[in-house]
Order: sequence, then structure tokens, then C-alpha cells
Amino acid sequence: MLARRLRPAAARWTSQWSRGYSSQLSSSSGTPDLDASKLTIETTATPKPLLDPKELIFGRTFSDHMLSVEWTAQDGWLAPRITPYQNLSLDPSTCVLHYAFTCFEGMKAYKDADSRIRLFRPDRNMHRLNRSAARIALPTFSSDAFISLISRFVNLEQRFIPSQKGYSLYLRPTLIGTQKTLGVGPPGSALLFVIASPVGPYYPTGFKAVTLEATEHAVRAWPGGVGDRKLGANYAPCIVPQIDASRRGFQQNLWLFGEEGYVTEVGTMNMFVAWVNEDGVKELITAPLDGTILEGVTRESVLALARERLPAEGWKISERKYTIAEVKKAAEEGRLLEGFGTGTAAVVSPVKGITWRGQNIEVPLSPGKETGPLAQKFWDWMCEIQYGETKHDWSYVVPESK
Ligand SMILES: *Cc1c(COP(=O)(O)O)cnc(C)c1O
Repeated sequence: MLARRLRPAAARWTSQWSRGYSSQLSSSSGTPDLDASKLTIETTATPKPLLDPKELIFGRTFSDHMLSVEWTAQDGWLAPRITPYQNLSLDPSTCVLHYAFTCFEGMKAYKDADSRIRLFRPDRNMHRLNRSAARIALPTFSSDAFISLISRFVNLEQRFIPSQKGYSLYLRPTLIGTQKTLGVGPPGSALLFVIASPVGPYYPTGFKAVTLEATEHAVRAWPGGVGDRKLGANYAPCIVPQIDASRRGFQQNLWLFGEEGYVTEVGTMNMFVAWVNEDGVKELITAPLDGTILEGVTRESVLALARERLPAEGWKISERKYTIAEVKKAAEEGRLLEGFGTGTAAVVSPVKGITWRGQNIEVPLSPGKETGPLAQKFWDWMCEIQYGETKHDWSYVVPESK
């Protein structure tokens, strides 16, 4: 892949910029790619007690082990290791701490009714992590090799996957630059690791529709920026606008873009709206992947299911720009049908209201419910596939480790 690995630092440096970060996704350079067959496993001597599933808090407790693979520009990907979960030791000058050389994924391992472990479209997460990595000069890797390593890891950690439907093991693959230097340049070393956190259902007592505040004073992503990649650098700047919205009583903020007020994303989820459009056609709409939208696996899956199953009911499915003013107008004219966010954590998150410039746009729900009919449908369809209740190519059964 990246030819710069074979060249001296100065040459690497210029070519890096002159290429304008052209991101190639194959790892076939002179240095070794990720090799799952080189995995070594050191198991913990002190297994953790399992928490009562009802007490699980998202991302707070972790499984016994972690998976790590180091990379150097000189030697490529080194032998992968599963070790007891432990602290990292980083020199204070490590580049990730200063210049945010970090990208990550969010995915889940599910236990089906036959106690088999399943992942949902892991190839999509691998593809996205490689694209994120390439954008910040971190090394890319073989998706298949990493899926097989993750499979070995979740096999080892399977006692942490609660069997009840709605529960899962949240997986956090992360890639960081580990070069010790304050110089701003492509990291000469990196660490890819995966940690795992058992999680309960996002809606333990059924859907809870949320209210949003449309944010105009801050922008999440912009054309030519990196909002379409899962980079650590994208998240810290979003916290203050979210706190501002929550101080005013809203659960999430809705990110708008530009003078037109284009609707982009909700918190850290993709946003969908259903309305009867100006032509009188029922339309499910989400913003297009124009570089400012995170390429959500849930978004992609909801779109695919919608295109396959909804046209029969008269729905048009659109990926195109739409504005908050159009949403408001649709609501005023009684054409707004539904709104919801999508993401791995919640699957779908129904919206009941959006406040924009001090005015409330009411978003309809099914009578007496905390969700609309479409959000409910997508949630059902996605969960059936994720938990292996219906057979589908998207559900990957983790092979048992020998
Ligand atoms: C991760 C993420 C999403 C959702 O992606 P999924 O793959 O569906 O989990 C949407 N928006 C942002 C900003 C995200 O970080």
C-alpha cells in the first residue's frame, strides 16, 4: 500500500502531502499485512465476576481480555496478541495524545437462540476503519484477517455476552498512532486494539422518543472535512453543543449545515425523516453521503431494507439534501410522518420534537406509543437479523475456535 513506508522520512513527508492523502485501501506493500495465524493468547489468572445484566451501564465495564496488534513502518503488522485487559503504557510525547491520531469502530457481538455468536456486517466496520485510518496516515490492514482475530477474541469472551435478546457485547476496535514525537507527520508506529463491554438493551422498558434542539451556532462536519470518518478528533468538539442542548431540556442536538439549514445528523446518529413530500408521495429521506455524513452501517442497512420492502407500500426512498425549513413546513401542513436517528447503540431512536430558532416542530408518533410505525418496523427487522431469527447474509456467525 503506502509507498512512503519504504522511503526516508523527508521524502515520505512531501509525498504524503502532495498526494493529498490519497487513501489506498489495500495493504499489499513490502511489509507484512495483518496475519491472524500468528495470534498468541495469554489468558487472565483473575477472571472478573459477571455483573447482573440489569446493572450494565454502556461502556463502563469490560471483559477479561483485549486484542492488540502493533504496527511499525519498518516491519508492518506484528504478531497479534490476546492478553488480559490492561493499561496501555505510552510515552508522554506519543503522537496520539497531541495530534489525535486515533480512529475507532463501534460494533456488537450477539448471542442467538442457539447460543451461537453473531456479528452484524463486520466487513462494513472493517472497511470504514480502514478508510478512517488512511485519512489520518495510519496503516491499513486486511479486513478478513481482522474479522478472524475479532472472532477468536469474542469466542474467548463469550461468557460476557448475555443470552437475553436485546443484550450484546459492544466491541470497540481502535487504532492509534504511537510514535514518540512532537513532530507533526505520519506516525511510524501504531497500535490496533479491541476492547469489549457487555451492554444491555438501549430501551430496557420500550422506546423512549427524544426531543432535539437544532444546533446552528456550531457545525459538526463540513465539505472537505473529516465528518465522514470515525476519527476521535470529531467527537470532543461535539460535547459542548450537546451539553448546551441538554441544559435547555433536550436529549440530543440536531446538526444543521449551512445557511440553507440542511439537516445532517442527530447527536452521533444518522437522521431519517418520513413525510408526504410536496408531490404528495410518501418519502423516507436521509442526507446523502457528501463527505459531511458518517457512513453509518445502520443507515446503510435501513436504506437497503427500505428499498427492498417499502416500495410495495407506496414509499419512495431518498438520499438527498433536505432542510429544517422543509421539515417545519411539512409539520405545519400535516405532512410530517416520522423522524428517527439510527446507529449501532440504539438501532433506531424515535424523535418526537425538534426545536429550531425557539419554535417547536412536533414530530408524530403512533397513537399512545413512543415510536412511529416505520421506526418500529426497522427496529424489528434489524433485531431479527442481528439475533439470527431470520436468515440473512448480513449476520455473520462467528466460527467456534478450535
Ligand atoms: C458511529 C456513528 C454513526 C452511526 O454509525 P453506525 O455504523 O450505524 O453505528 C452515525 N453518526 C456518527 C457521527 C457516528 O459516529
